[in-house]
Amino acid sequence: MEVAQRGAGMNQEGLESYQRVTGRFGREFRYFTEVGSTNDVALAAARSGAAEGLVVVADGQSEGRGRLQRRWEAPVGSSLLMSLLFRPPEPFVYFAGRITMVCGLSLVAAVSAVSGVAVQLKWPNDLIHEASGASGDWLKLAGMLSEVVFSEAGQPVALVVGLGVNVNVAAGDLPALAPNAGSLSALAGTEVSRVDLLDAFLGEIESRHADLLCGVDPVPAWREQLAWLGRPVVVHGAGGIIQGIAEDIDAEGALVLRLPGGETRRFLAGDVSLRPGAY
Ligand code: ADP
Repeated sequence: MEVAQRGAGMNQEGLESYQRVTGRFGREFRYFTEVGSTNDVALAAARSGAAEGLVVVADGQSEGRGRLQRRWEAPVGSSLLMSLLFRPPEPFVYFAGRITMVCGLSLVAAVSAVSGVAVQLKWPNDLIHEASGASGDWLKLAGMLSEVVFSEAGQPVALVVGLGVNVNVAAGDLPALAPNAGSLSALAGTEVSRVDLLDAFLGEIESRHADLLCGVDPVPAWREQLAWLGRPVVVHGAGGIIQGIAEDIDAEGALVLRLPGGETRRFLAGDVSLRPGAY
């Protein structure tokens, strides 16, 4: 057949030949076999004036990073390692926070559609699978890292959202990534097309980002996808470990924790890590 069709035909292709012909996100597409970090490439492009919609993808990263200076590990060719460049309107902080939520929601929708694996978001921005619905039994499938570019005058001018998704990491390779790392292929029992996942994700981003700019607040949908709300959790931060019930998230996306004494405490994303835990 002359014209390649979506579906089985796409599955055979590598990420290097991915093309997106409609919409804003992914029309400018940069692929690397190996790179330091896709976020660094997108951040440098943003500083050089690249337009919103740039997507950077790599098969391998030597300096992949998570939040709080942690490393993001991925066997070469196994994962979807990508960064997206956004130019949020004012108020920047409002839109930057919500764009990160839109990325999480888009990833949930794309992973569900392409792999069928049941996933949730772990506040503030990881993708997880809960093995049995019981607290404590969860696998981390993806991490997200949002970084802001500032102008010389100190104004925020761009947002880069990086995502690392464990797509086809073999079960035997998972423990080396993190004790609770999981992958879509290990859970689905079959390889998952990274091209199909990327394409589904960018389609979701396209429409959800447009909705956000039209005034649709993603917070209610994001809250719906969050794991462990109403359940006992442990918050790990610079100040130590705090236990409580993950009561809710507020309008800014901060976690509201109900402490054992009855009072509540608010945690901002970026400062802390969340784990399930009884007390
Ligand atoms: P959290 O919010 O869960 O505390 P981060 O978002 O900072 O974590 O992500 C970095 C952490 O993720 C690392 O410290 C490591 O434990 C874990 N990690 C690194 N690579 C992977 C991977 N491919 N899959 C799952 N977990 C990973």
